[in-house]
Amino acid sequence: MIGSLKLKDKSTFGENTRLVHLGREPDKYYGVVNPPISRSSTILYDSIEAYSDPKTEYRYGRLGTPITKQFEKAMSELEGGYGAIAAPSGQSAITTSLLAFLKAGDHVLIIDSLYPPVRYFCNNMLARYGIDVEYYSAHDDLAARLKPNTAVIYMESPGSATFEIQDVPAIVKLAKSKNIVTIIDNSWAGGYLYKPFDHGVDISLQSCSKYIGGHSDIIMGVSVARDKEHYKPLRAAANDLGVTAGPDDIYLALRGLRTMPLRFKQAQENTMAVLDGIKNHTAIERLFYPALPDDPNHALWKRDFKGANGVFSALIKSTSKDAVCEAVNSLKLIPVGSSWGGYESLLQPQYLEKYRSANPWENKGAMLRFHIGLEDPDDLITDLRCALDKLL
Ligand SMILES: *Cc1c(COP(=O)(O)O)cnc(C)c1O
Repeated sequence: MIGSLKLKDKSTFGENTRLVHLGREPDKYYGVVNPPISRSSTILYDSIEAYSDPKTEYRYGRLGTPITKQFEKAMSELEGGYGAIAAPSGQSAITTSLLAFLKAGDHVLIIDSLYPPVRYFCNNMLARYGIDVEYYSAHDDLAARLKPNTAVIYMESPGSATFEIQDVPAIVKLAKSKNIVTIIDNSWAGGYLYKPFDHGVDISLQSCSKYIGGHSDIIMGVSVARDKEHYKPLRAAANDLGVTAGPDDIYLALRGLRTMPLRFKQAQENTMAVLDGIKNHTAIERLFYPALPDDPNHALWKRDFKGANGVFSALIKSTSKDAVCEAVNSLKLIPVGSSWGGYESLLQPQYLEKYRSANPWENKGAMLRFHIGLEDPDDLITDLRCALDKLL
């Protein structure tokens, strides 16, 4: 018996144990511990009957090779769902999932604090195809927003940049009473810190470019369906749209899964230390991080999440743009860049006045989103304090 062969039923084990074993079957690969990268467009058969058998697991590379299935199985297990589709980006996992459950004439409710590029997709493509797109803010009364043709409620919790936590169980309860499909962007939690299917959400998707990849190298996404009923349209949409992920990226995503809990733990610890080191700085008007006890979303975070990651935002007291640029540019350890979830610290300026409509953004100060990496927190604190002092 080799490796995971002994773990036929993994469900009785703790989650970190399962993360070591899921998505690999060494017995199928001569004992090789990691599933090999299978690069193949063509899958060969020795008979017409075998090729034409509807039960054939592999038919064509775009529909998945063995490593694709290993990853999709791993993600279904991690999230506690029925089936998954691997996508070439998080954005693609999102657009595929929305297209799977929407049609012309439908109404869709979209969280206002969503990942901004998805807003373009909704306002441009979905609207062009005759879908009525409406944004809601995290704590709105959704019952009042429902229409007879509401087909999907799309959540992202915590929201991008401001990290509002939605009351997912309450939203799902409402959606179920009206047969509305619920979709959530679970990137912040990596499918690990939060379990949408425990609360009845239908589709949980994420960008694997963030904490699953974890090393600032891959762009990839995944969408997991809670049950067969929701998996079928999701899989059909992926196949129809030609959505597929490359085997090399999938290999790195599977590798990232093994150490993700460690990285989350360290990210939370480092971020709390950094926040502690800068929270009383007078250049800061407000910090946004749900694990902070005085964050307005703290109670919901504590109720639903088992940890936090390394992303927070700081609203800088209103000051000149030039002064903020000078302060940011003076940072030695925290360069400007998109994304988060890698090993290195980063910051990204936020222009939320452009990306909020249900709940317009009226703050005048600069909003900076930070990702805290695996550096020594004391070094980051010294760097940040030095930059913030320039704003006084
Ligand atoms: C980055 C991100 C995405 C998009 O992921 P890509 O892999 O870059 O396409 C989607 N949702 C959230 C919350 C993100 O942060």
